[in-house]
Amino acid sequence: MSQPVINIGMVGHVDHGKTTLVSALSGVWTDTHSEELKRGISIRLGYADCTFYKCKNCDEPECYSSGKKCAACGSEDMEELRTVSFVDSPGHETLMATMLSGAAIMDGAVLVIAANETCPQPQTKEHLMALDIIGIKNVVIAQNKIDIVSREDAIKHYNQIKEFVKGTVAENAPIVPISAQQNINIDVLIKTIEEKIPTPKHDLDKPGIMQVARSFDVNRPGTPPQKLNGGVLGGTLSQGTFKIKDDIEIRPGRKVEFEGKTTWEPISTTVTRLVYGGDVVEEATPGGLLAAGTKLDPAMTKSDALAGQVAGKPGFLPPVWHKFVMKTQLLERVVGVSDESAIKPIATSEPLMLTIGTSTTIGVVSSARKGEAEVKLKRPVCAEVGSRIAISRRIGARWRLIGVGVLTS
Ligand code: GDP
Ligand code: MG
Repeated sequence: MSQPVINIGMVGHVDHGKTTLVSALSGVWTDTHSEELKRGISIRLGYADCTFYKCKNCDEPECYSSGKKCAACGSEDMEELRTVSFVDSPGHETLMATMLSGAAIMDGAVLVIAANETCPQPQTKEHLMALDIIGIKNVVIAQNKIDIVSREDAIKHYNQIKEFVKGTVAENAPIVPISAQQNINIDVLIKTIEEKIPTPKHDLDKPGIMQVARSFDVNRPGTPPQKLNGGVLGGTLSQGTFKIKDDIEIRPGRKVEFEGKTTWEPISTTVTRLVYGGDVVEEATPGGLLAAGTKLDPAMTKSDALAGQVAGKPGFLPPVWHKFVMKTQLLERVVGVSDESAIKPIATSEPLMLTIGTSTTIGVVSSARKGEAEVKLKRPVCAEVGSRIAISRRIGARWRLIGVGVLTS
């Protein structure tokens, strides 16, 4: 498989078919953790790559498929279009923080909306709002599960979607009726993704910077020490390249407590292995989800311990912030709940959940004015001035998206 060139997010309400659609496209079932299998929902960010092809003998749209063999005529006389990494996000309302950190590495998104429920469902709305806040403009809507609704109901539902997206980033997004489970119209969906979610241009000459979205210990329990693999970082390069043997730095790094004082020390290590999907490469480039093996003790990377950090060429990483000032813009009403109450201004000393890049941290407001707030962070973040911040507030028992911030100083 070629290196993926773009990350496309699967977003939408729980049970609407995101994981099934990733599987229909890539052949990979991304819910593999025991808890995900037990509860039947995606809990972490799932990754799967697939290559889109166009059959040289078939007409549009039948010519589009995600396998080397044409799904329509069986021919292998195919033109390779591109390899895409899908980022499968959880749709459950309690997992918005995971969805938001995933959105930070999406270049575009497929919003999956099941046709057998009225539109919008709470997280359909909340995820679309998140795309809006994070600035993801290229959206395709997959109207899923059309195999279990009548033609009339599908049309009624289509009109509900049209009404719902008015005034949002997805206002003009194409709506493709599909069945992920029955493989209906997947060719049209691929064609639409190819047309509407173009591959972004990346700067390969800049120093390599990776947004870390996951981190793993890939060793089986009981592996003898001399056979242990080093810690693995999962994420995406936002610029530049990584090569085997590159020295990298990870920031904010490691929390160090000494004589009652807490500091954060950058972690230095070396890249030992680069993997896209199942393919080992010598050089990694932006776009697509990358696993980077390192010389780190796997205990440091297990269970997403380094998720939200930034890895890259030493000396070239963005600054680390323990507190910062952000320009803020709040939504009018809370989305994602049945009772959409008005959003009150940000108040001094309230805790906010802030998602900056793949990082999620609590920031306590130290001062707030209209359109601006200063926050002190529980965990520092590594981010450029100008970064977008998704701001959530605790309302009832949950964190709810209330607005967008821009890091200013
Ligand atoms: P997610 O929470 O959005 O990832 O949803 P899943 O992919 O886990 O799917 C939820 C349920 O809907 C599963 O039981 C799927 O088999 C079912 N499902 C997904 N797509 C379709 C479809 O196109 N048609 C029908 N009938 N069921 C579907
Ligand atoms: Mg899922």
